[in-house]
Amino acid sequence: MDIADMAKRIAAGERRALARAITLVESGRADHRAQATELLATLGTGREALRIGLSGTPGVGKSTFIESFGKMLTADGKRVAVLAVDPSSARSGGSILGDKTRMDELARDPNAFIRPSPSQTHLGGVARRTREAVALCEAAGFDVVLIETVGVGQSETVVAQMSDLFLLLLAPAGGDELQGVKRGIMEMADLIVINKADGDLKATAVRTQADYAGALRLLRKRAQDPDGYPRAMTVSALENRGLPEAWDALQELAGWRRAHGFWEATRAGQARYWFEETVKAALLAQLETPQARADLAALSQAVAEGTREPTSAARDFVQALGKSAAQSG
Ligand code: GDP
Repeated sequence: MDIADMAKRIAAGERRALARAITLVESGRADHRAQATELLATLGTGREALRIGLSGTPGVGKSTFIESFGKMLTADGKRVAVLAVDPSSARSGGSILGDKTRMDELARDPNAFIRPSPSQTHLGGVARRTREAVALCEAAGFDVVLIETVGVGQSETVVAQMSDLFLLLLAPAGGDELQGVKRGIMEMADLIVINKADGDLKATAVRTQADYAGALRLLRKRAQDPDGYPRAMTVSALENRGLPEAWDALQELAGWRRAHGFWEATRAGQARYWFEETVKAALLAQLETPQARADLAALSQAVAEGTREPTSAARDFVQALGKSAAQSG
């Protein structure tokens, strides 16, 4: 594969090249990993998209929202990419997110790019690959990257680590269900959007919004927020209502953070985080080679039998690991 050519095509915004590149970063094969790394290095860090994390439990209307919201943005001339971090696919290989058929109109839009979650054996792997896919979308000149996840715990934290803004999508519900949203997830949200504010559900949606607006006021004020944020608002993804207001709020918040230095600070912290995560993953991967496994097993046997002393055995192992890494690198 010609990486320089691929980089050129991605920079020119070619969707097919982008799709192939994402397949490359998702691959676990060592040669693919090396090519992906070279590609990311070639593309560099110049272009920036607005990265919006979006979370919500199954059925709240994430795909309907993304379809309507995405179409609104593309109609306005923006290029929109949709990626997913799906913890269920990490566990079982089956996916409940990012299914193209769920957003078929947006998927056919030439200014949109939709990619389902990679299946991996663990969330950490999915997270790193998705972060790299986000970087590829930015290099391809997308204006907005939506990163979707299911509201079931850990995956929100992972998505927040690669987003500029975090949007929590909720369904209209009675007051006592407010407790159902974990405090930690609420604290992560920049915008809480109550969907399905239409028909019979409208009154409940408005009440739910007031409940969350009240709950948000009780949270500790964050330095990176202007007055009035985080905000709760209602939308109807189905009837296309409230979406321009949600976009305005996101842009207002993004603009304020840029003007006050929080944007760069958050991005810098995230870049540092992913660098460190990738270093850790690379070090762990070194333990997984046949040679390393054999050495580890032999030394651990010797330590157990008392023929080797544990501290110096560990030193020897780590030094040998460093040497073989230097040779293969
Ligand atoms: P997801 O699982 O979060 O992606 O949710 P979907 O987008 O698949 O939506 C789940 C169900 O809620 C579908 O039957 C949608 O038609 C419905 N739905 C989504 N948005 C709205 C909305 O704004 N109003 C109403 N009434 N129903 C909606």
